Amino acid sequence: MKFLKLNKTLFTALALFACKKEKPTENADLQKPETSAVNPLGNIQICTERSLDGITPRGAVLKTKKWTPGTTLKVSLNGSTAAIRAKVIQFAKAWETYANIKFNFVTNDNTATIRVSFVSGDGSWSYIGKDANSISSANATMNFGWLTSTTADSEYSRVVIHEFGHALGMIHEHQHPLVAIPWDKPAVYAYYAAAPNYWSQADVDNNLFAKYSTTQTNYSAYDKNSIMHYSVPNELTIGDYEVGWNTVLSPTDKTFIASVYPF
Ligand SMILES: [Zn+2]
Repeated sequence: MKFLKLNKTLFTALALFACKKEKPTENADLQKPETSAVNPLGNIQICTERSLDGITPRGAVLKTKKWTPGTTLKVSLNGSTAAIRAKVIQFAKAWETYANIKFNFVTNDNTATIRVSFVSGDGSWSYIGKDANSISSANATMNFGWLTSTTADSEYSRVVIHEFGHALGMIHEHQHPLVAIPWDKPAVYAYYAAAPNYWSQADVDNNLFAKYSTTQTNYSAYDKNSIMHYSVPNELTIGDYEVGWNTVLSPTDKTFIASVYPF
């Protein structure tokens, strides 16, 4: 877990650097189950953090993006079905046990701070923490692109808790400053170049290999079990190394978010 303590200048510089990263719209085909048969690893459905200018952020993270502890965030779930919305509420609330933050769930309310859409084909993503305040009220600040009535509860848990982690200001754990994943880079490039991601090598560099710097970041120990970690198949690493599908808050997730949002 980590969060940056960036001054504004540094953050601006990082934001400019981030302009080279993929636009979320380029991941519009994240969910195409019919393509999974072509890849023996299956489809890794990638969450993309989203920054204010519509690109994957590098450095938009907790310390500058966190809410005031004790805040109640109004969250409007816009669309989908009552049953699916109820699942989202059920799993999002996992954070409330450990963070001094409350979610007030409503529907179709554009005055809500966090506005959740359910656009199929747009992937799953969220803006980071208080960045949501800068998004036009006409637009969503979070999307769930592949949750349906037949989605397993474990997948609801994995995706919903992860995206609401971003909404609380958390960034991806696989880019922890001290991460040492023995990536098989050619295999990774080949994998993500195919459906459903269609990423360029630069996209892979930015979304998987780039790390947050130790001088820019506050962090606890790297946590392989974090809900904010991507799955890493053994086939994409050298030697015997993999990270499975983390579907619940890890012990470190719980203690870290409690330290950020103390009661
Ligand atoms: Zn994510």
